[in-house]
Amino acid sequence: RLEQYSKLRDKEAISKDGTDISLLMNAGLLVDLPNVEGAGAQGIGLFRTELQFMVAESFPRMREQEKVYRSVLDATDGLPVTFRSLDVGGDKVLAFLRLAPEENPAMGWRAIRLGLDRPGLLRTQMRALLHAAAGRHLRLMFPMISEVGEFDAAKALFEREIAHLERHGYEKPAKIELGTMLEVPSLLFQLEELLERVDFLSIGTNDLHQFMMASDRGNTRLSGRYSNLSPAFLRALSRIQQKAQEHGVPVTVCGEIAGRPLAAMALLAMGYRNLSMSPSSIGPVKAMVLELPLEPLSEGFAKVLSTSLSGEEVQKFLTSFAETHS
Ligand code: PEP
Ligand code: MG
Repeated sequence: RLEQYSKLRDKEAISKDGTDISLLMNAGLLVDLPNVEGAGAQGIGLFRTELQFMVAESFPRMREQEKVYRSVLDATDGLPVTFRSLDVGGDKVLAFLRLAPEENPAMGWRAIRLGLDRPGLLRTQMRALLHAAAGRHLRLMFPMISEVGEFDAAKALFEREIAHLERHGYEKPAKIELGTMLEVPSLLFQLEELLERVDFLSIGTNDLHQFMMASDRGNTRLSGRYSNLSPAFLRALSRIQQKAQEHGVPVTVCGEIAGRPLAAMALLAMGYRNLSMSPSSIGPVKAMVLELPLEPLSEGFAKVLSTSLSGEEVQKFLTSFAETHS
């Protein structure tokens, strides 16, 4: 099977009826980078910058961060890379950053909250990214945004860093795009305002599912209880896709479900065209895409989504569609 997938490496992901799908890779360390080409990814849809921090013994300095970001851009050789600013706290622990114990760390002082309260950290990272991307394309997004005001505040910090570059005569990136992760359900109710502000969106379905279902993503007693194909959850994803499309804002799904062929089918059926996943998932998802008549799937799926009450029903539809069309 692995051999079969490696044959697909240089093939573009186009559905059987001719729709282009962009399959991107999630990464976080330099060791991941050789996989970009190996897996046949069209870029890095999510670069988790916190991994460099998680394996370090002390806070990486600006120049150390810059070095990593530059290596990432060098290794991907012009393919798009979406960096995510530091997402620590919750399940992501830094050895050298002693955070006070919290009752609910997943909903605690983490990610962009920490970044906005400790702007020195965030600005150092932004500066490192701007230097690394001099003359190139920089895409940056923020994790765990819960209100549009947080995006505005992060963007304001970023603009100060750009002004700093200009003041000191450093070369700027040739192109800059700022976006946000959508992983907190409140944003569903500020979607219009958000879409007016961002250059792109990336849906973190791991956290979005956890918070929509009020179900800890790491709790094994709950795993399997609330399906990733739950109609309530999928309807939220469908709404995000529609709104983003109306606003002409590109959207990617970068949570685990993007890398599971059956769930990826559901995403494609709802209109998603950019999926970012772990490198080992690209082959299986690409194999699925190549066999997929997307238009009939989308039609059937819209009905299923509007009538199903459980993830099992959705799953049954997708499985039988896959069986009858392979
Ligand atoms: C997510 O929440 O879906 C996501 C992609 O981010 P992480 O898994 O790093 O929290
Ligand atoms: Mg997340």
